[in-house]
Amino acid sequence: MRTDGDIRAHCVYPDCTNTRRTRGLCHQHYQTMRSYVRDGKATEEDLQRRGLLLDKGTGGSPVHDHSAFLLGSDAQGES
Ligand SMILES: [Zn+2]
Repeated sequence: MRTDGDIRAHCVYPDCTNTRRTRGLCHQHYQTMRSYVRDGKATEEDLQRRGLLLDKGTGGSPVHDHSAFLLGSDAQGES
């Protein structure tokens, strides 16, 4: 099982540490998700059930996420 607390501010895609942007996904994975849905490889409902996409109502980022985003991406890593 994943440590939900640890990934809360990150993209919900497994092992992705990019900052969330849309519906729990980073920009890259949101685009990937959209292409999957467009190509019929997956549906949004399916992805939501698998925890790879958050409900539209929960897509908003907490305040500290906005701060992180505005300060510049931490996606490059700190180490
Ligand atoms: Zn991601």
